[in-house]
Order: sequence, then structure tokens, then C-alpha cells
Amino acid sequence: MSQKVVAIVEDEADIRELVETHLHQALFQTVAYENGSSFLTSLARQIPDLVILDLMLPDMDGLDVCRFLKNDPRWATIPVLMLTAKATETDKVVGLEVGADDYVIKPFSPLELVARVKALLRRATLSTKEKIIRLGNLLTLNVDQYQVTVQGKQIHLTASEFRILQLLASSPGRVFTRKQILDFLWGQEKAVIDRTVDVHIMNLREKLGVAGSKIKGVRGIGYKLEAV
Ligand code: CA
Repeated sequence: MSQKVVAIVEDEADIRELVETHLHQALFQTVAYENGSSFLTSLARQIPDLVILDLMLPDMDGLDVCRFLKNDPRWATIPVLMLTAKATETDKVVGLEVGADDYVIKPFSPLELVARVKALLRRATLSTKEKIIRLGNLLTLNVDQYQVTVQGKQIHLTASEFRILQLLASSPGRVFTRKQILDFLWGQEKAVIDRTVDVHIMNLREKLGVAGSKIKGVRGIGYKLEAV
């Protein structure tokens, strides 16, 4: 397994070094940034597996950095661990509202921080590896057996249709771009065009009947499966 890359966005050099040292010991790769804008610029070159994000940065508020990530489908799935000196409940709520995945309050134990990083990465890996995915009583996917039922009735899908539905259902409400859907279907193979996704989605909607109406197009971006 390749090493996971953890980005650290923190203006205090001491904390940056402390965190990097402990992450290296735990066999993570790190990239460190002193401010929010240099980190956001770096996303065009490299997308980290996780971000440790300080709340108080010299150029921007960490919450704004987090909001920016979570509102962009290209980066919304990167787990964000917020670092904060503030410990009030309000700050926690605001952080979670903008989509932060976890919180560590300064001063923190580096070992605790590494444990949280590992837990978040495990959770991120699991989300597309669920064996049984359920959308209320409406839809059930059995990933091992490639079986789908809508209100208890089995539906026959092609392998591609099944994979698309599996991806959408792994995170109801989340918008997936056509590119993300294609990458999930065919890995890095680039021979297929965006319209392929639209055709699969059209067929999928028809076959799923009442559950098919839960698949929504998001203009100019891609598709999502609405939560029930
Ligand atoms: Ca700071």
C-alpha cells in the first residue's frame, strides 16, 4: 500500500514540526503549509489523503478553508481534522457545520492526533467498501453479489450500472462529478467520454423505477442519490 499523504496547514512552526515528526514516525508522508491560500493553491498539483487544518491562520479563517473544500465536489471527500485553541461548544458546532470531520483542541497529545488521523482515513476507505448499502426501505445493494432490490423486488442491472449506483449510494446527498463516476468505473482509463455516464444513468433510472427518481442530475457537475 502506498503511503498516505497528510497536509498540515498551520502557521506555528513548532506545531507544524511536532505534527510532521509524529506523522513520519507513523509512516505518513506530509506536506506543510503556513497559510490557507498556499494550501488551496497546492490542490491543483496534489490532493492529499487528509488535511490537518488550523482554525486561526494568518491569511484566512480555517473554517473558510474547510467550507471551500467541502463545497467543491473535487475535494469534498478529503477528511478534514481541525486544530483549534478554542474549546467552546459553539466553535465545535460551527466547525462541524462547515463539514470538518473531526476536532483536536490545543494543546494536544501528538499520539492522540495520529490516532485520530488513522481513524479518519479508515472511515474514508470504508465508505465505498460497504457490503450492504441500504437507502431506507426503498433500495438495497448487496455489493458482493451484485444484487439490487427496490422495495424488496430484485432488479437486474449491468455491471456498470451497478457500480454507478454503488458509488452514488455510498454517500447519499453527495454530488459526484461525471469524471469521478468515470474514474470509479474504469480507473484511470480515459477512452470513455462523459456522455457515457449520462446514458448509464438514464438506463439506471428506468430500471430502478420508484427508486430511480432519487437519482438527481446536478447541472454542469454530475449526479447524486438523494437520501430518504
Ligand atoms: Ca494558528
